[in-house]
Amino acid sequence: MDYLFSLTFDAVFVLFLNIIIIALVIYLYHLKKILTLGAKRRAYLENIIKDLDHQTKLIIKSDIELKLYQDAVNDKLKKLSFLKHFISSSLNILDRESLFSQITKGVVQSIGFENAAIITCEGLEVKINQGFSEGEIDALKKFITKHREVFTRSALITPDSEICGELKRAFSFQEFLMCPIVLGSEIYAVFCLYKCIVPEGMTEDEREVFSIIAMYLGQCLDNIKLFEALYRSGEELEGKVKQKTFELTKTLQEIEKISKMKSDFISSVSHELRTPLTSIKGYSSLLVAEKFGALTPAAKERLQKIDNNVNKLVDMVNTLLDISRIESKRIEINIAPGDIAKLIQDVADLLMPQTESENIKLSTRIPSTLSVLMDKNLIERVLINLINNAIKFTPQGGEIMIRCEVKNKRAIISVSDTGLGIPKHDLENIFQEFFRVDDPKHKEVKGSGLGLSLVKRIIETHKETIWVASEVHKGTTFHFTLKLAEDV
Ligand code: ADP
Repeated sequence: MDYLFSLTFDAVFVLFLNIIIIALVIYLYHLKKILTLGAKRRAYLENIIKDLDHQTKLIIKSDIELKLYQDAVNDKLKKLSFLKHFISSSLNILDRESLFSQITKGVVQSIGFENAAIITCEGLEVKINQGFSEGEIDALKKFITKHREVFTRSALITPDSEICGELKRAFSFQEFLMCPIVLGSEIYAVFCLYKCIVPEGMTEDEREVFSIIAMYLGQCLDNIKLFEALYRSGEELEGKVKQKTFELTKTLQEIEKISKMKSDFISSVSHELRTPLTSIKGYSSLLVAEKFGALTPAAKERLQKIDNNVNKLVDMVNTLLDISRIESKRIEINIAPGDIAKLIQDVADLLMPQTESENIKLSTRIPSTLSVLMDKNLIERVLINLINNAIKFTPQGGEIMIRCEVKNKRAIISVSDTGLGIPKHDLENIFQEFFRVDDPKHKEVKGSGLGLSLVKRIIETHKETIWVASEVHKGTTFHFTLKLAEDV
């Protein structure tokens, strides 16, 4: 029994040992597997860390580059804004001295230098000098004189240029720039900069800004030259205008003098004629009326002719006197509000018997009332003259129409007829004294050629206008304007 128990115990122990061994083997196997995996993962992680390290380095590098780039951009922006400010502040400058005075110490420093000078090629005039000594300016002058041909349109002279050796030697000029200022097709001046204050030394940017400023100064000089030429021609023109105005005023004064002499002459002749004419007129009327005794028919007929002609002469002299009085402003003019519609109707009514006897239809197209500014007596004479002319130059059976309408705040009065008309080439002379249309039909009608001249002067006295439109064999229309009274 004990043996059996001992045998069973051994078997169980061996089994247990086996199980433990198997479990250990499995555990070891798994441990190995885990270790292998760990090594792989470690290698993998090491790679990632390496990658990360590499990328960090790259990021730091690009960050530094970006910062440098940003600094460069900021610097460029600063230069651009400086250029913009410089250009806008000198945009409207119209004289050379003020233009050069724009190159201040601040401007020179903004370009990146300490000293600046502008020296003209012709006459070697120093336009600006910021910090150069007299000896340095002399050396620059010598250099410009000697190497004038080097300064072509776009030449920017730097210390690397071969010809600069003497400048470098003479003044230990190391960092300097020279650029021509071009005016038209010529080199006007040389712009020099000296002593670079940029910590890293002169760069492409400084050179570029400098050439832009030099080029811009050239363009400003061009504008100034143009302005000076314009100003000069403006002054010349002004002088010519003044001279012509003076001559015209003189001519006008002479014309006025002659015109006054003419009116004075007409006025005094008319005056002189009026007295004997009045006496002739008195006697002829008395004679025709047979107040001095009965007349033979032949004598009466001739005396009647004399009386008619005296009447015409009296009319003519009176009209001439009126014209000269209006011209010399010796007549009292009373411009006041008045009803032009009523005046037209009154004149039409007055002349109606005459038109009826001539078998001419006289009609009006006028408002019931219209207040205008006028000297009533003078405008009445205008209307009578124009309607009388219309009657005189319109054959029997014709028509006369008087209109009055309001246009552009003015009354326009028109007298139209269906009469002989006036040839086109005579229209501009129609208002001249003694002018009559040179046509047998017109000459048949009696007249002096003074009526329209008086009419025009009356309208001008009102500061208004009169004009005529006409067509031969169709008719004539005279228009004149008057200010509306309520518009004042
Ligand atoms: P008058 O009528 O006394 O000759 P005016 O100065 O009034 O003088 O007129 C000048 C000339 O203008 C007239 O002789 C005539 O030839 C022309 N004329 C004026 N009004 C008219 C009209 N309505 N129709 C045609 N001709 C006219």
